[in-house]
Amino acid sequence: MDIFDLTAHELSDLLKKREITDLDITSAILKRIQQIDGDVRAYVTITEENALNAARNVHERRSKGDDLPPLAGIPMALKDNFCTKGVRTTCSSRMLENFIPPYSATVVDKLLENSAVLLGKLNMDEFAMGSSTESSYFFPTRNPWDLDRVPGGSSGGSAAAVAAGEAVFALGSDTGGSIRQPAAFCGIVGMKPTYGLVSRNGVVAFASSMDQVGPLTKDVRDCALVLNAIAGYDPLDSTSVNRNVPDYTAFLTGEIKGKRIGVVREMIDDGLDSRVAEVFNNAVSKLEELGAVVDECSLPVAATASVPVYHIIAPAEASSNLARFDGVRYGFRAVPEKGKKYTLEEMYMKTRSEGFGPEVKRRIMMGTYVLSSGCYEKYYLKAAKVRTLIKKDFEQAYERFDVLITPTTPDLPFLLGEKVNPLDSYNSDKYTVPVNIAGLPAISIPCGFVEGLPVGMQIIAPAFREDSLFQVAYAFEQNTPYHRERPPIKRRASEEKAKGSDIND
Ligand code: GLN
Repeated sequence: MDIFDLTAHELSDLLKKREITDLDITSAILKRIQQIDGDVRAYVTITEENALNAARNVHERRSKGDDLPPLAGIPMALKDNFCTKGVRTTCSSRMLENFIPPYSATVVDKLLENSAVLLGKLNMDEFAMGSSTESSYFFPTRNPWDLDRVPGGSSGGSAAAVAAGEAVFALGSDTGGSIRQPAAFCGIVGMKPTYGLVSRNGVVAFASSMDQVGPLTKDVRDCALVLNAIAGYDPLDSTSVNRNVPDYTAFLTGEIKGKRIGVVREMIDDGLDSRVAEVFNNAVSKLEELGAVVDECSLPVAATASVPVYHIIAPAEASSNLARFDGVRYGFRAVPEKGKKYTLEEMYMKTRSEGFGPEVKRRIMMGTYVLSSGCYEKYYLKAAKVRTLIKKDFEQAYERFDVLITPTTPDLPFLLGEKVNPLDSYNSDKYTVPVNIAGLPAISIPCGFVEGLPVGMQIIAPAFREDSLFQVAYAFEQNTPYHRERPPIKRRASEEKAKGSDIND
């Protein structure tokens, strides 16, 4: 295996044994980026000089015999909605194309304190709204397993970079599935922690009652290591919860005998691709084989009402959060033609209509509508009430089960440009959004392949029971080969087509 194929814990072991240097690792990953990012397009900004300097610095400290944490010298990258002091943070939007934050998000500071090496910023759906990374203002990112397909979204750049060996791990944000769905599409591990476990200070807000930060990694152990580094109370985030954070690697025992696992009946439904269903069912059998007690469970409200509830609450909160991008306080401002002047209102309107892309504008309009007088009770308040019922669904299920499992997504990674109707893309989030609505932790892990495309399994636990997620995820991973597969980074469909036309010619 090449350096860029290795996990953080494998690299960390090699560093400890002095078989490799911090500089070797960062140089190898930067070279990998140079070689393949022209195809994958995961990065919006690459901070090569900073990365090399940081790696040199860690190397010097290591040579002096300093005791360094496990992520020291490990190259990572961040979704471009994490503020990074002095490094452009765009949210993949024209609105913030040239925004350079004066401070870093708390989680970024934490990773840097752990001496991880920042490689750069990763592409995403504009302001984290989307499921394919196609709504980025800059360019779409491609799936390393098949460059004709999307990597998922909105943390598509993060997932693609980790899968393709362009970063050892990455951070993403997850409001309705944006870490888990791209992790599933790219064949890696992605975790959305419990609401309040990880600070969101300095992460550009989308829907504040659901946004959470989490790791995207090559395996479950790396996920635990990154969560160890970023979890914990932050006085700068008023939703951050003050409680002790355990060492998550302690739960990587491989032992799940007697664990009660519920398979969500409504999520093995008509909308599920039959090939994904087959892979998922095999995964369920594997868990049984490992000693788990598996049974069906039902989430009647969560499974049916979550997408509509999400698409009322998320846009409502987004319309408020994005009001600050008005041409005065941040980023882009529309300028009138020479000799003309805008009134203040015209300036606001032009700035917002030129600075935001179509999906963001759609959400702002929807959100403003559901909060407007006359609609508020009918939509927003009703959605808030159904939200309580969705939470109750989960509470009831956890009386019988330790964790619940579902396929992470109903379908395989789709082709670029395939989902033109926004509703198609909204529906593809139906297994992930209930988790955000209820504020629960969930992880997506690789559970098989269909025609060379990865399939993910989602494990969902009660609030603050990340320990259960790690236990089950690790046991499954260690008894299956999928996490060791690496993507070919090539086009499949168009290559096939080209081959076909050769024959016809
Ligand atoms: N795909 C969902 C959406 O479009 C989720 C996005 C997210 O989790 N940030 O809103």
